[in-house]
Amino acid sequence: MTDTESWIQKDLKYVWHPDTQMKQYEGDNYKPTLIERGEGIYLYDTDGKRYIDGVSSWWVNTLGHSVPRLNNVLTEQANKIEHVLLADFTHKPAIELAERLVKLAGEPFSKVFYSDDGSTAVEVAIKMAYQYWYQKGQPQKRYFVSMTDSYHGDTLGSVSVGGIDIYKKIFNPLVFETIKVPAPYCYRCPKGCKQNSCNIDCLKDVVKLFKEHHNEIAAIIVEPLVQGAAGMRVYPAEYLNRLRIICDEYDVLLIDDEVAMAFGRTGKYFAFEHARIKPDIFCVAKGITAGYVPLAATVTTDKIYSAFYDDFSSLKTFYHGHSFTGNPIACAVAVETLKIMEEAKIIEHLPFKADVFKQSLQKFKNLSHVGDIRHIGMVGAVEMVRNRETKEPYKFTERVGHKVFLEAMKRGAILRPIGNVIYFMPPLVITEAQIEELTQIAYDSIKVVTESV
Ligand SMILES: *Cc1c(COP(=O)(O)O)cnc(C)c1O
Repeated sequence: MTDTESWIQKDLKYVWHPDTQMKQYEGDNYKPTLIERGEGIYLYDTDGKRYIDGVSSWWVNTLGHSVPRLNNVLTEQANKIEHVLLADFTHKPAIELAERLVKLAGEPFSKVFYSDDGSTAVEVAIKMAYQYWYQKGQPQKRYFVSMTDSYHGDTLGSVSVGGIDIYKKIFNPLVFETIKVPAPYCYRCPKGCKQNSCNIDCLKDVVKLFKEHHNEIAAIIVEPLVQGAAGMRVYPAEYLNRLRIICDEYDVLLIDDEVAMAFGRTGKYFAFEHARIKPDIFCVAKGITAGYVPLAATVTTDKIYSAFYDDFSSLKTFYHGHSFTGNPIACAVAVETLKIMEEAKIIEHLPFKADVFKQSLQKFKNLSHVGDIRHIGMVGAVEMVRNRETKEPYKFTERVGHKVFLEAMKRGAILRPIGNVIYFMPPLVITEAQIEELTQIAYDSIKVVTESV
């Protein structure tokens, strides 16, 4: 047995992997890949084989792996103070990061509430919105609206506003009741419309719902412009723009879950910029530390904050906090990440790269089992179908996406699929040539698999 094999054997003995049916590793089947190091957009396994990190290690990495500047800041901060509680105490990295986030997001944002990851940032947003209405004397505004096939995290509050069966169905007896509105899934539009030529008819359901029930609705939570976990379903910015107007009209808060899409994924710092709107509350995590360490923030306005600001005896305090709220190492890495993005003009350089990316996705039109090609900024996806005319999907038991993943691994790229959707969410620092290499590996892998199943 090689050294790698014995580590894997030990892994399977002790580690329970996320979102994974562990039985698939039985026998001579494929095994988890033992990664030893990373550099730039590449990950290297213990045998020295190199892979393009095509999914940014679950959507978190933005500036590449093991970046010297971030490594230095991380160790420097650990040498000063690795952690201190953020109640009655504070530290420069938390302060500087909050100021930077507020300034980046612009008016009317004014306050940053830290937590640990995307799910907790969403929990914070939900509780904040609920308590806001409670303290405004409207406790009956307690329902949350979200989209079908939405994903907002894996903790029970965020699962409640989620809409994907595999994450939710079993837990339905445990989660709180929410209201679903149809997602703007343009490839399979429930209204039969075509993207960019429709009148965003799917918003009519939102208007109808708000008209009848706004008095009981606290907020609507959305993934801006891309429903990520649903399969990188890109929808028009116009949807978000109009949703803001409808929310204002009916006095419903707009919570924008930017956990996956902020910090450059869509080509801008925040996806809401595309729609030229400002939500009432937005959540960030994943890319905030360039994918280094867990950190999240829920950002809001004085309108919300002032409903909590009162004498101690008023009991309006927001009683929420995690042990590692605003961890100094994480905040220092996040500040440095934003400095690098600013100095290297990462966002400014994205339009050209995004265009190259968009062009390189065109080749998938030649594959007869690719039904839809989706793209925005530095996110791309292809949806594979059994039949392109009827859009008949492959059965989930066929594991077509998984087969493509295995082919791509052989060819040196990590393209971990979502069902029948192969998507690309590379680190923002990927070059144009590397984009071409990545999409070509996907093309070859999809071709081999779909022509044999
Ligand atoms: C990943 C994700 C989350 C959950 O974030 P975690 O850090 O995994 O808890 C929430 N919302 C969206 C839109 C996400 O993509």
